[in-house]
Amino acid sequence: MKIVLASRNRKKIAELETLLSEVFPQIEILSLDDVGIHGEIVEDGTTFAENALIKARAAAESGYIGVGDDSGLTVDALGGEPGIYSARYAERCGKGGDHNDEANNNALLERLADVADGARGGAFVCCIACVLPDGREFTVFGEARGSILRERHGEDGFGYDPLFYYEPLGKCFAQLSPEEKNSVSHRGQAIRAFAKALGAALEERKN
Ligand code: IMP
Repeated sequence: MKIVLASRNRKKIAELETLLSEVFPQIEILSLDDVGIHGEIVEDGTTFAENALIKARAAAESGYIGVGDDSGLTVDALGGEPGIYSARYAERCGKGGDHNDEANNNALLERLADVADGARGGAFVCCIACVLPDGREFTVFGEARGSILRERHGEDGFGYDPLFYYEPLGKCFAQLSPEEKNSVSHRGQAIRAFAKALGAALEERKN
């Protein structure tokens, strides 16, 4: 079974292949380049789900199962920001540093400077969208709730991981091994939900 993931990030493709192959041993994940789709996809949706669907629809033009994902950090005290702007939050706050983790974390810390310790809750959210060759579409979500620290902790992970404290494990996401993070993260949960939903959708087509 071939799936086209709307990404050119080899790490993301390998991660999805590893996790899905536990459920679908014959799975092969292709990138957009692998199927000759070379243009940029314009992600102009207003929600994670809209953006994930835009990407999944573009990938499905290959004729294979198309999958797109979109994730980010939503902070309660900021009305859900950075949200869909997570990758370019510093730029959105007028601080430059497009797609730069360091600048994004600094922008977040600055915006939360006056927010009390007990009011710094938020969640990482991941949406995975899928478009099947017969036109059916579905989305699944994963969410990990935590709070935003005032200083960075840990060396691992990426993005906002050094500021995201995950109470159930008593650590920041940047202090978790990849396996630990995957077992609790928004992306890990969304991928597991996706595997279930894809299995059900393929079964439905057989019946
Ligand atoms: P993407 O949609 O997976 O590319 O994520 C968009 C942005 O959200 C990233 O550039 C990060 O800033 C942030 N983000 C998403 N997932 C994570 C995570 O697991 N840890 C830290 N930051 C994340």
